[in-house]
Amino acid sequence: MSKSAFDYIIVGAGSAGSVLANRLSKDPTTSVLLLEAGPEDKTPMIKIPGAFAYFMFSKKYNWLYDAEPVPDIRNGEPVFCPRGKTLGGSSAVNAMVYIRGHKSDYDRWQADGNEGWGYEQLLPYFKKSETNQRGANAYHGDKGPMYVSDTKNYYPLNERFLKASENVGFPLTDDFNGESYEGAGYYQFTIKDGERCGVARGYLNPVRDRQNLQVECEAFVNRILFNGKTASGVEYTQNGKTISVKATKEVLLCGGSFNSPQTLMLSGVGDKEELQSHGIGVVHDLPGVGKNLQEHVDACVLVKSKKKDGFSLTASGLMKTLPDTLQYIRSKTGNLANSITQAGAFLKSNPGIEVPDIQMHFVPILFDDCGRNIGLLRQHGYSLHVCVLRPESRGKVSLKSANPRDKIKIEFNFLSEKKDQKTLVDGIRVARKILENEAFDEHRGEEMHPGKDVQSDEGLLQACKDRLGLVYHPSGTCKMGNDPMAVVDARLCVHGLKSLRVVDASVMPTLVGGNTNAPVIAMAEKAADMILKKPQRVLAGNEEQELEAIK
Ligand SMILES: Cc1cc2nc3c(=O)[nH]c(=O)nc-3n(C[C@H](O)[C@H](O)[C@H](O)COP(=O)(O)OP(=O)(O)OC[C@H]3O[C@@H](n4cnc5c(N)ncnc54)[C@H](O)[C@@H]3O)c2cc1C
Repeated sequence: MSKSAFDYIIVGAGSAGSVLANRLSKDPTTSVLLLEAGPEDKTPMIKIPGAFAYFMFSKKYNWLYDAEPVPDIRNGEPVFCPRGKTLGGSSAVNAMVYIRGHKSDYDRWQADGNEGWGYEQLLPYFKKSETNQRGANAYHGDKGPMYVSDTKNYYPLNERFLKASENVGFPLTDDFNGESYEGAGYYQFTIKDGERCGVARGYLNPVRDRQNLQVECEAFVNRILFNGKTASGVEYTQNGKTISVKATKEVLLCGGSFNSPQTLMLSGVGDKEELQSHGIGVVHDLPGVGKNLQEHVDACVLVKSKKKDGFSLTASGLMKTLPDTLQYIRSKTGNLANSITQAGAFLKSNPGIEVPDIQMHFVPILFDDCGRNIGLLRQHGYSLHVCVLRPESRGKVSLKSANPRDKIKIEFNFLSEKKDQKTLVDGIRVARKILENEAFDEHRGEEMHPGKDVQSDEGLLQACKDRLGLVYHPSGTCKMGNDPMAVVDARLCVHGLKSLRVVDASVMPTLVGGNTNAPVIAMAEKAADMILKKPQRVLAGNEEQELEAIK
């Protein structure tokens, strides 16, 4: 089927876009076009949970963004910002950790005037989206598209991490998404039968044969088309051809926190002066587009191991790779059936704090820079990563030019707020305390980073900056709210425009305290319900009245 008009056009088949494509095309009388810049997710590597690092080098499946270099961060080396570029978006390349964040993260959105976005309102959508291996309860669902499973621990070091955390006085939790967010424990994962369960597998594949859903890959959306203040369609390029297609109800922008603001700006929606400086005609002056960028800034403690029971690129480590591969091929079990991180924690960087403000990812190998630091892997060791859960520092994304193919400029303004610096440094001290506990005695070798000599606050802060990383949770660049810098309202409709919503991580007004895939999926589930209950074009009357009505 090749049509020139659809009820809904969805830009981006990532965590949010795939959910919308599934839910909106459920009614066979509704036509939906899903446009994805990346290729089909055909490579078998996507299915293998242990193949995570493969995608960090892939031009084909990853946008491979870099943030603008900053002299005292990573010694001026740009910070890597991977993003998935295929069906499933970043859920096709992520580490599959299933975390929702803390109740108060959502209650804060609601308290800030975003009606309907409190935890109690979102919980039904978290449940709706999951089939938890442990079955249904007050917090979990058992009928949803995303399969959520327990890890099978193949590394003794994970147990050491949990024992050490307990020994130093932290609680253990068996469900970060249930009663007790706080503590150390094993994560759950979006993995089914030893294979990745990204949104393409969970939401898209089961509905690909619907006649009213058209999915186009390698279809790069250049801009949204407008008729006055109403989004009327999109222009995209595929196989060298530029195609315009109409939306009779809505355009739904789901390109993620870097690309959604880029597409808006290229379409004339953004800060008026910035658009004009690139020669872009202004459709709507919306200064908040691209601002308010937030990320989970990450630092780590790296320790050499006396034992050789983890993975490494040493002779003994590589010897294990062959049996691991054979085991995976035979039974979809073993190390390759798991994420690179299996255990972690949500802790308080200082005892007086009310809600845990740091997250830990324990990795039973020497792991830095998203697995791209191959040199590190030539030794046996383990890593404890610490991130600031609710950063106060804010960055921005902006256009480098009016050419849609030019990468967006990303400036995080890392650790610009003193509070973030303190949280990270205190977090590193907590990580050290855990790693220095007797539970690690049999394994513990030299602390490679920051290194035993680094003890002062200033020294630790610089060490964090020297190896600064991200947890790959950019958000906030099209924030939801009612203030002058807000881009969308609580219905995710772009302020001042009609028939256009943004649905992805960019609408989070503040970053949630945890990994962002499950939150984005739940948000998209809620968005689908809102769209189906009140699509924008059904409103009648003159434009002014309609805009008032959809506020
Ligand atoms: C390496 C990595 C590890 C991560 N690990 C975890 C984890 O373990 N757990 C967790 O919860 N979260 C994790 N995340 C984060 C999580 O995956 C993301 O927050 C989530 O997938 C974001 O969803 P989204 O819908 O906002 O964007 P995305 O899923 O990135 O989707 C955006 C889609 O839009 C497409 N697109 C963009 N621009 C255009 C255009 N102009 N035309 C057409 N298509 C376009 C993109 O190709 C992409 O498919 C990780 C992310 C990365 C990158």
